[in-house]
Amino acid sequence: MSSAGKAVREYFKSRVRAGHIYSAMRFVPRGVVERVQRRRLKELVTYCATESKFYRDCFKRHGITPEAVNSIEDLGDIFTLGLDLIERRKDFICRPDHIAFETTGTQGRNKWLHFTWHEINKMANSCMVGLLMLDFYRTDRFLNCFNYSFWVPGFVFQRGVERLGAYCLGASKTSPESIYERLDNYKINALIGYPSLLMRVTDLAEKHGAPKIKGIMTAGERITPQVRSWMERVWGCNVYATYGLTEACGGVGGECIRKNGYHLEELLNLVEIDNPAEDGYGEIVLTTLSRRCMPLIRYRTGDVGRIINEKCGCGLPTRRLESVPGRVDDKIKIGTAYFLPNVFDRAIHSVEAIGRDYQLVAYWEGNKEVLELNLETDTPSDKLSEEVMSAIFREDKDMANNVSYGMFNLKIKFNPTGSLRADNIKLKRFVDKRLDHEGRRDYRIEGIKPEGR
Ligand SMILES: [Zn+2]
Repeated sequence: MSSAGKAVREYFKSRVRAGHIYSAMRFVPRGVVERVQRRRLKELVTYCATESKFYRDCFKRHGITPEAVNSIEDLGDIFTLGLDLIERRKDFICRPDHIAFETTGTQGRNKWLHFTWHEINKMANSCMVGLLMLDFYRTDRFLNCFNYSFWVPGFVFQRGVERLGAYCLGASKTSPESIYERLDNYKINALIGYPSLLMRVTDLAEKHGAPKIKGIMTAGERITPQVRSWMERVWGCNVYATYGLTEACGGVGGECIRKNGYHLEELLNLVEIDNPAEDGYGEIVLTTLSRRCMPLIRYRTGDVGRIINEKCGCGLPTRRLESVPGRVDDKIKIGTAYFLPNVFDRAIHSVEAIGRDYQLVAYWEGNKEVLELNLETDTPSDKLSEEVMSAIFREDKDMANNVSYGMFNLKIKFNPTGSLRADNIKLKRFVDKRLDHEGRRDYRIEGIKPEGR
């Protein structure tokens, strides 16, 4: 057979396979999904009661007997916190690992998550199905610009594309220019990466011309509706979003072609919304149903979201998740980075001529996120601004990288001494104006912060 004939055969083969998976999934009754979830939850609780030191202690403390657990509600008020993963990591590990990933974070408080190849393969399969459902096939050529440095999404996407049988160029986290210039050379027609980096590549495409791309998939951070429609206009293709976290080995859910909430991967994870407000928004809580190396039960993600129970027009039987920008803890997420405001404490205190008070304000400026650091001084100057910036980058190398790649802007604003607390009120350390941009409430202010934080 000629090479053109082979390519045509490959193309139809992959489409048939995609069609089969999609059709089969659409006809799975909701009740079957829930039955499998209940069975897997019971198996998980029984497993953790013997194999996980953390959960063995936890069940004992809360008087939980695995035999009595038939649904997630039977676990009462048991929750796993991020701090538990940091302080008792080894107590979560039930069997030898093959690979580990870290959450993004600063100050040496990253969480380490351990997995087996079997678990990674399950996630790669799920990623492959997601790609097929979005009309990506083995004939497509991906460029993967997720950061590979101890971080999960690049690795899982690469494995997912490998399962799809498609081409995948690994760019990792690099300059937008070096990504843009390779698109034509490698005949790339699909992009995957985090929005803040893809947005800078989109800037270049808008300025110098957009090569023909059939679809873009994002993960690692939220994409606002404004940014999405701008990217879609520049590239002339759909931009799909996913929701995931390292603690879930990457993906928790992904959008279908309707782009109306993340379809949850419900056979791998059980997602709950804790303490929901009247409109259904609350903290996203996750139980990893099929993991055995470092399983997590009712892990508080700190992210805010709600479940959409109505069936999606695409016909898939899974529930959908909608996530919003707020956090229920003190962490700030900007671009792909999470950090606690006190990373600035140390930096600021190392610079003389700056007062102790400061306030961070995050907002959107066009299509770019800005983190503005408000400081107090009576001697403002460009030199002082540079001194503060260097002190911050010394404290947090990842922030230095993110700013240098243009993933967000860090601005220093000087205010007269005493002006930040002019009204003699408690100074709010972080003001998130990005929420206004999307017409959302700041859940942190309104106090759905769970107990024990
Ligand atoms: Zn759908």
